[in-house]
Amino acid sequence: MYSKPVLKQLKPYAQGKQTDEIKTAYNLDRVVKLSSNENPYGYSEKVKEYFTTYIPDFNVYPDGYATQLRQTITDKLQINESQIVFGSGADEMIQTICRAFLSPEVNTVMAKPTFTQYKQGAVIEGATVKEIPTQNGYHDLDKMFQAIDDQTSIVWICSPDNPTGTFLERERLLAFLDQCPKNVLVVLDEAYYEFVSEAATYDTLSLLKTYDNLILLRTFSKAYGLAGLRIGYGLMHESIATKLNIVRGPFNTTKMSQDMAVIAFKDDQFVNDVISQNQYVKGEFQLFLDDIGWPYYDTETNFILVKTPMSGTEVFEYLIRNGFIVRPGEMLGYPDTVRITIGLESEMEELKKCLYKLHVQINKEV
Ligand code: PMP
Repeated sequence: MYSKPVLKQLKPYAQGKQTDEIKTAYNLDRVVKLSSNENPYGYSEKVKEYFTTYIPDFNVYPDGYATQLRQTITDKLQINESQIVFGSGADEMIQTICRAFLSPEVNTVMAKPTFTQYKQGAVIEGATVKEIPTQNGYHDLDKMFQAIDDQTSIVWICSPDNPTGTFLERERLLAFLDQCPKNVLVVLDEAYYEFVSEAATYDTLSLLKTYDNLILLRTFSKAYGLAGLRIGYGLMHESIATKLNIVRGPFNTTKMSQDMAVIAFKDDQFVNDVISQNQYVKGEFQLFLDDIGWPYYDTETNFILVKTPMSGTEVFEYLIRNGFIVRPGEMLGYPDTVRITIGLESEMEELKKCLYKLHVQINKEV
């Protein structure tokens, strides 16, 4: 059977281990999943309440234009309706962008390592991928700019970045956007944007007014806690949105995900609580890491990439035996690290005890 020859070089996305799988394999009663940067606080109570009386017409196709959700978002963000495209998560947005803007004739520039789906999508479309090594976990925007040529179609910027959590300062981003040719699309993936601390954050939305070649990607999966519903969106100039609307499936988001996202988007209190609790628990965990002398990358997200005194895979295996699922950095392009989602305070207290034991054990061996 024919398939795109390029598929022979690629593998399906390797997802983090599922909780039940680990419970059975390691004979554990309790497993804490800190591997997919999900929201440990769940989601808005208002969504839960709404859901109890919710009887959608599942026999009818959803509104492919997502009118109500579109209006909810545009009202709050004060942007034009024609500037939003919805996707089944930011993941589908990435796929749609690749489909619309990449082909074997063009190239695309991204950091290495960064979120894996940019490269996956680009390679499937046959585009040449130019990967620019990160510096201390930060995108090297100067080198990324230098990599742009006449055949460059898209530059991907993940800020805050996954898997490091690093966030690009406004001046650096603006300097890049100012230099970048206007015919090159810049995709700024802001999946973790809500988690950026008050001290570091700045308004990226207003950049859409100046840069017609910019897409901001956002999601309901992280701060809003709706990862299971699969809904995200891109904000961009109308002319780009038109192209993505041609490519995307006509009913690519479900009625349920649209309706729940409307409720979730209005509940600022829930998101603010999540953000402040994450900030607090993360800060406490960073203090612990400082105490045991394990360095970590700067992070403005709900996860942290920790440098481990042995391979990340060994730490991952030790933790999994103790009921914690994290991501070994070897899978993410950062050997000798583990990426840990910031869980609930109680979960992180348990994790600290577990890591402390490992730390003591290592020091005994030395
Ligand atoms: N971008 C980044 C940087 C991510 O980490 C993720 C989720 N892991 C996504 C996009 C995709 O998010 P979703 O499809 O759940 O909206």
